[in-house]
Amino acid sequence: MNRPAPTPATGSTVPGRRLQQLAELPVTVLRGVGENVAEDLAELGVTTVFDLVTHYPRRYIDGTRMLTVDRLTEGEKATVLATVRRVSAPPARAGARGRGRRPPSRVELEVADASGKLKVTFFNQAWRARQLPVGTLTLFFGPVSSFRGAMQMVNPTVEVLRGADESPTTDDGPATGRIYPVYPLSEKASLTSARIGRLVQEALDRAGTFADPLDPTDRDRFGLVDRTVAFTGIHRPVVEADEEPARRRLAFDELLRLQLALVLRRQRLHEDARGIVHPLTRADGPTLVEQFVDRLPFPLTGAQARAVADLSGDLAGALPMHRLLQGDVGSGKTVVAVAALLIGVEGGHQGALMAPTEVLAEQHAAEVRRLVDGLVVSDPSTLTGDRPLRVELLTSRTGATDRAAIHEGLAAGAVDLVVGTHALLTDRVVFASLGVVVIDEQHRFGVEQRAALRAKGRGADDQGRDPDLLVMTATPIPRTAAMVVFGDLDMTVIDEMPPGRQPVATSWLRTPLEAEQAWSRVREQVGSGHRAFVVCPLVEGSDKVEAASATAEAERLAEHELAGLRVGLLHGQMKPADKEQAMEAFRAGDLDVLVSTTVIEVGVDIADASVMVIEDADRFGIAQLHQLRGRVGRSGEPAWCFLLSEAGSPEATARLEAMEASTDGFVLADVDLELRGEGTILGARQKGRSDLKLARLLSDRDLVVEARSLAVELVAADPDLDDHRLLVDELRLFVDEDEAEFLFKS
Ligand code: ADP
Ligand code: MG
Repeated sequence: MNRPAPTPATGSTVPGRRLQQLAELPVTVLRGVGENVAEDLAELGVTTVFDLVTHYPRRYIDGTRMLTVDRLTEGEKATVLATVRRVSAPPARAGARGRGRRPPSRVELEVADASGKLKVTFFNQAWRARQLPVGTLTLFFGPVSSFRGAMQMVNPTVEVLRGADESPTTDDGPATGRIYPVYPLSEKASLTSARIGRLVQEALDRAGTFADPLDPTDRDRFGLVDRTVAFTGIHRPVVEADEEPARRRLAFDELLRLQLALVLRRQRLHEDARGIVHPLTRADGPTLVEQFVDRLPFPLTGAQARAVADLSGDLAGALPMHRLLQGDVGSGKTVVAVAALLIGVEGGHQGALMAPTEVLAEQHAAEVRRLVDGLVVSDPSTLTGDRPLRVELLTSRTGATDRAAIHEGLAAGAVDLVVGTHALLTDRVVFASLGVVVIDEQHRFGVEQRAALRAKGRGADDQGRDPDLLVMTATPIPRTAAMVVFGDLDMTVIDEMPPGRQPVATSWLRTPLEAEQAWSRVREQVGSGHRAFVVCPLVEGSDKVEAASATAEAERLAEHELAGLRVGLLHGQMKPADKEQAMEAFRAGDLDVLVSTTVIEVGVDIADASVMVIEDADRFGIAQLHQLRGRVGRSGEPAWCFLLSEAGSPEATARLEAMEASTDGFVLADVDLELRGEGTILGARQKGRSDLKLARLLSDRDLVVEARSLAVELVAADPDLDDHRLLVDELRLFVDEDEAEFLFKS
């Protein structure tokens, strides 16, 4: 972190074109952009020159490999310029929708240049028939294969140079030896990629040299090209080798802006924070946490001990804790959370644990009560000078009388720990002194809800203190992705399971015959005193239909595969009391098998359950499957998970194979990210994240880490970024006004 003081030249006096300037220019300043073209560009989200130069190519066609049809060689990549001669698109077979998978659609073209004919086939791209009518002049780029002795290209990259009904212009001639950028297009707009390319070219020509917010030393350190080279390289690469350095530089800029916003946000939160300094020791004996850990029937795992040390450090400090606790299902997060809450109680404050569902809140409350049973807190108003630590549960199901009593107890400080759902956020919940807040399953709560609960520490008069915040998530996300999504939080990872856990033996069963293995395992395990979950297919569209199908499946299983076993049912349409009863019966061992929809997904803790059967497993995502599987194998005894699915798309196959291959949530999170792309992860906190156009969380891990470290350094050396106005100006382009005000205090 030893940075030389930045030279004044890094400020707004840096010569060159600033992004901010381009953002102020409408596209209509460009030659030939009138109202119609402007409208077409707007379809693509491009209204300013800045939008245009950051409208990056989707891919490239390598014109340096341009060949005539008669020169094509099987097995080599080539670019061909040809006109569409014939199009045939056999209609997709009807009636195959719904449960099944549709056969891939196929569009076949015959294209030709002066030297000969070529067959081009597209699978699963039915729209190509509309895009490429007879007469279209097109570049096709891809590997050449042979089919029944004739050359063909399958799913090539395509760039339309001239539509079927357009007359030739001088622009269409492909300058052999160039690389063609292929721009994202909109179905509605009639712009071609070539047209966009020409507009970008004009914009870049007129922009000239770009101002670069990175010091040359930092560019060298991270091996980045300068910004002008980057914009040219991404839009007009001369050779293929120009593309990647350009993309890296621009991706780095995206990630740096994002990390700067996160690091600044954290800094600001700290600046106006009024934290509580929690005591970690007690003069006259062991603290509550020490007593708590002593009484646990097991020693903490190394990872749990490290997590408790991390958060103890935060709690004892003057700044409020903002920490994310990541740990796989079953890694023992609850114990760590209770330790945090107890440190708050030690100093005479209260703790709140918030869960996303009632089932979970109830279960947490039961577990917390069990864990803190026997602990006392001092209370001068009693004869003994102390009283049992009091834990209450508050959800929307809490009756009016109890609710009133709990509200009163919280306001008076007589309730030490409260476990609940969103019900904790209502205005009527007032704390005497809220010290520590733990939020479970972060992804279901928004940032606003976090803030709302935190605000409760300050009280209505804003006189109080900011409670410490611990966010727990059982859905591991890769470390670098976490830096992007949770970059304003400190992070602790529980990367070790309690001893004696055996990995859940997982098999993907593809036929009804194979599925019999699952049912016989269920019968065997129930026979030896264990229990089993059966998860029914997700039915899209309607909870009712889903409930009906689960009901039917429970009945069917009870009559056939699981005849003679006590089979219960749990789904979202049941009355709360009935749900409760089913859960209770299963917990108590009065039911052998619980057939349910995904309501059991999170948290349900039944140590004796040893088999999980998931029907139509291809319909679930990896994270969900992993959560479901985490419901078994929690006792140290062998456990099984059966994924029933008659296979599906290549993606579903990849998911199910990954589940069979690994029980490590972090490994699976990587696979998930690879399969789904980052959209879903970022979707959780979309706001202000639209800037990531080029950065890829998985393949650009090194860039994420480097951008993070540079952002931390810059803010440490220059907290208000006074000497980095260029970066501040750029950041303003990407964060909304409220956020900008918060970050830059202006
Ligand atoms: P998570 O919430 O991370 O999924 P839990 O906190 O529910 O995991 O813990 C899972 C199970 O492991 C619980 O039954 C808990 O009592 C047990 N457990 C927690 N920590 C340990 C430990 N250090 N040694 C043995 N068992 C533990
Ligand atoms: Mg738990």
